[in-house]
Amino acid sequence: MTTLLYTHPACLEHDPGPYHPESPSRLRAVLDALDGPDFSRLDRREAPEAELDDIARVHPRRFVERLLEAVPRSGHVRIDADTIMSPGSGEAALRAAGAVAAAVDAVVAGEADNAFCAVRPPGHHAEPGRAMGFCLFNNAAIGALRAREVHGLERVAEIDFDVHHGNGTQACFWDDPGLFYASTHQSPLYPGTGGRGETGSAGNVVNVPLRPMSGSRAFRSGVTRDILPALDTFRPELLLVSAGFDAHRSDPLAQLMLDESDYVWVTEQLLDLAREHAAGRVVSTLEGGYDLPALGASAAAHVRTLMAAA
Ligand SMILES: [Zn+2]
Repeated sequence: MTTLLYTHPACLEHDPGPYHPESPSRLRAVLDALDGPDFSRLDRREAPEAELDDIARVHPRRFVERLLEAVPRSGHVRIDADTIMSPGSGEAALRAAGAVAAAVDAVVAGEADNAFCAVRPPGHHAEPGRAMGFCLFNNAAIGALRAREVHGLERVAEIDFDVHHGNGTQACFWDDPGLFYASTHQSPLYPGTGGRGETGSAGNVVNVPLRPMSGSRAFRSGVTRDILPALDTFRPELLLVSAGFDAHRSDPLAQLMLDESDYVWVTEQLLDLAREHAAGRVVSTLEGGYDLPALGASAAAHVRTLMAAA
């Protein structure tokens, strides 16, 4: 068995402009870091474009059509202060969502133990009716609902260790007791959601806000004390990971002070839980991470850990 890597060159063509932190060079840094001999065993696959039916389980069809119609032929279109589309953004967004959907298909079918989707734009801030925070479609939520509705899984969990709260994923999962969302994130920080009192309509949301500068110990104890027991009770049949690496100590957008060893540790915890309940099935997708060397090293550490379990 093996670890799959889904990506596509079109994900490099989404370009929000020269001074934007969510730049194509982020994905280049990740792909360069996954290029060495350590990664020769990865099963590399091209991310397909998501089908409209897959996206429409999360986002209203009219919203999807309007967003794709708004993709500019040249220059840029600004959706909000941070979320900007270029001519390549439509295909990039379709491939990013399609990567997670295809990875879910392959892992549920038993073609591989686990998968990492090296894609952009990221997804966890995208709410059903609103693109925001560098995100156009909610890639991980699209994968989760495909697992539920196409593959018939009853319980799908998503764990989000990006330094920002995944308000979009939380909004998608809130009312659905078959979906579980847990997040560690810095607070206070954009987008301002993710308080401990936000628990979903069925106790299916767990938020672990962390103070700036709180570091590895607070992160690991939050995961151990609050997230792993709740996941164990939920018994997911598939584990999705919103893998943002912007909680790294070198990241310019936040101050959570983690390093590569924390990403190895949390990945191992999630793999253990997936072995216990989900036949080891894990599908991880890239979210944030804005210091290029730290992003490359952290993504490599995460993928190496996934490969060690495969
Ligand atoms: Zn982030």
